[in-house]
Parts: sequence; C-alpha cells; structure tokens
Amino acid sequence: MPESLLCGLIGTGIGKSLTPAMHEAEGAEHGLNYQYRIIDLNSRGLTALDLPRLVSSAADLGFRGLNITHPCKQRVIATLDALSEDAARLGAVNTVVFADGRAVGHNTDWSGFDRNFGRGLPDADLADVVQLGAGGAGAAVAYAIARRGAGKLTLVDADPLRAQQLRESLSVMFPDVEILSAGLDRLAAVLESATGLVHATPIGMVEHPGSAVPESLLHPRMWVAEVVYRPAETELLAAASRAGCRTLSGTGMAVFQAADAFEIFTGRTADADRMIAHMSSL
Ligand code: NAD
Repeated sequence: MPESLLCGLIGTGIGKSLTPAMHEAEGAEHGLNYQYRIIDLNSRGLTALDLPRLVSSAADLGFRGLNITHPCKQRVIATLDALSEDAARLGAVNTVVFADGRAVGHNTDWSGFDRNFGRGLPDADLADVVQLGAGGAGAAVAYAIARRGAGKLTLVDADPLRAQQLRESLSVMFPDVEILSAGLDRLAAVLESATGLVHATPIGMVEHPGSAVPESLLHPRMWVAEVVYRPAETELLAAASRAGCRTLSGTGMAVFQAADAFEIFTGRTADADRMIAHMSSL
C-alpha cells in the first residue's frame, strides 16, 4: 500500500490555485497517495477568525500539513506550537506541518525565492538592489536578498509607511546591510545606479495588467527579478529583456516555495525541475 498523505491550502480567492496540482503530481512521482485540498475561506463563508478551529480540525482529521496564504500568514502564528527560525524572524508562516502532536510553522516564500534566485541569477551583483513592493511577498523576498548579503537594499512602495516599516524590521535583523526606504517619486533616481531590481507589487498580474516600472528606467547594468508569476512573462520582464537586463521570472519562486513545502510535508526531496516543467504545462 502506498503511503497516504493529506494536505491543504487555506486562504481566500484560491479556487484556481495551481498548488494542489503541483503537490499531487510530485507526490505521485514519489509513489505516494497524496491528496491536496483547497480550503477557500470565501467560498465556505469563513474568515481568518476561523483559523484556530480550522487548524486544530485539520490536525484532528489527520492532515499532514497546510499551506497558508493571504490573508492568514500572520494570523495563523497564534494557532501554532512552534516556528522555524526564519518564520519567527519574518513573522509570517505559509507552511504548517503537524507532527508528534505539535503544529510547527515554516516560511517557504523567502526560501522559494532564494533557491530560485540562486539557480537563475547565481552571480547577480547585490551591491545596490532596489525592491519595488513592501507587502507580504515583498517582506519575504527582501529578507532573502538581505540574507544573501546585499550591500544596499532600497525599498520603494506606493505606501511609504509600508516601505519604512519593512526597512525598520530588516535593519534590526541585518545590521550589516544598508537598508533604505524611498517614496515612488524617487524610483527613477534610485534605479539609476541600481545593480538589480526586484519587483514585488501585484502590477503585471492578469488581474492588474501593466508594469509598475516605466521602461525608460531599465538599463542593462541591472538584473530584474519578478515575483508575479501569472503570466510567466510579465510586461516588466518583457521590457527588461528589451533593455538588455538579465531576468528572472516569478514562476521559479512559486515552484520552489511549493517544492520546499513538499519536502517539509513528506520528508522527501522534490524534483524542482520536474515541478517547473509540470507547472509550465498547466
Ligand atoms: P500585498 O498586497 O501584500 O503587497 C503589495 C504591495 O505593493 C503593497 O505594499 C502596495 O502598496 C504595493 N504597490 C501596489 N502597487 C504599487 C505600485 N504601482 N508601485 C509601488 N508599490 C505598489 O501583496 P503581496 O501578497 O505582497 O503580493 C504581491 C505579488 O506577489 C502578487 O502578484 C502575488 O501574486 C505575488 N506573489 C508571488 C509569489 C510567488 O511564489 N511567485 C508568492 C507570493 C506572492
């Protein structure tokens, strides 16, 4: 009998998520009877306030683990028994594993971005990185960039307070990295000398078409890493390629965060190349 495993994803607006397909296909490759359920709060008339009940029910019902997405990544922490070191530092959890009667939270958003970055832009110059977007995904990717030992990291957001707050929390964690925040009006100035640009706003998604960065600000001395993954080639990435920048799409981050969660749930090494090929075919 193959080992049976039940996992799920809790969040809102996740009806069309590709995560179940990625996990189940990889599980099948490992000979597992792996089922991955969508638990969409909206469609069940639930809210993030129902999380404590949902998390303890999942444990009681024999779930191996849960992925957690918007708007629950912070709120879920109060329902857990322990956190990985990185999840504790980030104050956000996207993966919960149930083992030995305990619920332990991890964060594979930062590690997914980090593994994808190391694979796609291994020798990227981190001397002067600009990041646009300081929300949930932005916090995880800025953490990864700082952890990689960036020289300077400038956080820019349409909401200056968000950029400022992220700067403050990262500065405490990474005292050796020069971390700055700037308003959108400074984007052109900070990009002039940038060696890299990370894009972490929702602009470019199918639901929010366009690009948050004017094409005229892109230059071949910078690499461009995207967080948006649907579509795989955003308007920003297309413009960056035209400008002669090395680029990294958001697809790899989405796959590697799933691969890392798969490994936490199953204890097995996921084949990330196989998962990327599968995700690209969906
Ligand atoms: P969020 O709402 O938490 O944060 C978005 C931030 O972008 C906000 O602070 C907002 O003020 C800022 N912003 C919006 N428009 C802007 C603009 N034009 N210029 C500057 N700042 C702007 O959202 P999030 O959860 O961080 O998600 C952001 C994107 O990341 C989404 O497209 C999401 O799908 C994607 N994402 C991808 C992965 C992946 O694995 N590739 C993982 C998580 C999120």
